[in-house]
Amino acid sequence: MDTLPNSPEARDIEYHMHPYTNARRHQEVGPMVLDRGEGVHVFDSAGNRYIEAMAGLWSVAVGFSEERLVEAAVQQMRKLPYSHSFAHRSHGPAIDLAEKLIQMAPVPMSKVFFTNSGSEANDTVMKLLWYRSNAMGQPQRKKIISRLRGYHGITIASGSLTGLPYNHKSFDLPLPGVLHVGCPHFWREGQEGESEEAFATRLAAELEETIQREGPDTIAAFIGEPVMGAGGVVVPPKGYWEKIQAVLKRHDIPLIADEVICGFGRTGRMFGSELYGIEPDIMVMSKQMTSSYLPMAAVMMNARIFEPIADETHRIGTFGHGFTASGHPVAAAVSMENIRIIEERGLVEQAARVGAHMQARLRALSDMTPVGEVRGVGMIAAVELVGDPVTKAPHGKPGTLGAALQAAMQDEGILVRALGDTVAVCPPLITTETQADEIVDAFHRAIPRVAAHMAQG
Ligand code: PMP
Repeated sequence: MDTLPNSPEARDIEYHMHPYTNARRHQEVGPMVLDRGEGVHVFDSAGNRYIEAMAGLWSVAVGFSEERLVEAAVQQMRKLPYSHSFAHRSHGPAIDLAEKLIQMAPVPMSKVFFTNSGSEANDTVMKLLWYRSNAMGQPQRKKIISRLRGYHGITIASGSLTGLPYNHKSFDLPLPGVLHVGCPHFWREGQEGESEEAFATRLAAELEETIQREGPDTIAAFIGEPVMGAGGVVVPPKGYWEKIQAVLKRHDIPLIADEVICGFGRTGRMFGSELYGIEPDIMVMSKQMTSSYLPMAAVMMNARIFEPIADETHRIGTFGHGFTASGHPVAAAVSMENIRIIEERGLVEQAARVGAHMQARLRALSDMTPVGEVRGVGMIAAVELVGDPVTKAPHGKPGTLGAALQAAMQDEGILVRALGDTVAVCPPLITTETQADEIVDAFHRAIPRVAAHMAQG
């Protein structure tokens, strides 16, 4: 990349190691430096305008210039910019938010524990479950069942729960005791002649076998995203959650719904759990909880999880876990205002309405080469590209087509995210039907360019 000395691009290359980035390639291509945002749009340092069709990282629900969130942060900064919640200390914003989240939960919940990121929240979940098993006199009950292609974060524990190769390879993960069962992606994993329902039955049977093989009394919980996000936007097949929950209920195994992407309206319902009749014992949330204006996440648990843990803290004398910024007052105030905006402006209903329109229009891309599958629900979708529509094999090196489509979309003024050869779309909840049309129209122009590129070899 030609960069002027001392330009932001040159200094970024010089000083900044990026998350989820090929560090060597970054030295050649440099960063895309964003400067400001307005509504669904962001502007780069050269002044080019883009629709942020990934809402950042699946997270900016209310758009990029919401003054009410700025105002909520400023007011709280002036009043009490920081306080902690250790050792019985509390403050209004954390209390208000904990109460609000419990009231919003689709099933009866008991307590909220705050963290700063989804990864920390899932780490906390694992520690809560281990602590609970010890408290119940069941020290053998420590294993957690997750799913291939599930995404739950990148810390040592949450990275183990994640079921993606690049989060494990070279990091010596997963930790022992984390098991991965099959991914509920019907189009890719379904067998010849198998119905969606039969596929779901097969996955539930696999879960049952795994539990039997490991010993039901060794399993602490099952974790899943209602709709998988970072693993390629996987919408579960018909009957999947019902069948999975039946297996878990039979063995009295707690269920964790990772709502970090699905929560706060993404699927057209307030929580993804509502869409599929999921009755979780633990819900994990982040991202759209503050529209990511500030980092914050939460673990919400029911009495079945909380009560034995509370007993153990009483025996030990304290709960030896918590972050300096757990329940940070400024983040909590922003989250509360963000939830108010989502409710007042009917953004969940808007996501359902605009989402249905966007999904229907995106489905029309299915007939274009090299599209393998278009999938999604509400305001989360993906276009998966393949080299061979019959075998569903990639074209050359995996990820080539995805990267090409992401680049072609960027030329069209739309930011999407390639996850291998799957291109994810997850625009802010404030996206209008016209803006959704702009996104879909750009795909119509960009995909033939990828096909042409493919034809050239
Ligand atoms: N769970 C899910 C479902 C996620 O999508 C993510 C982030 N993409 C995480 C957990 C981890 O969150 P964070 O990046 O804030 O650690």
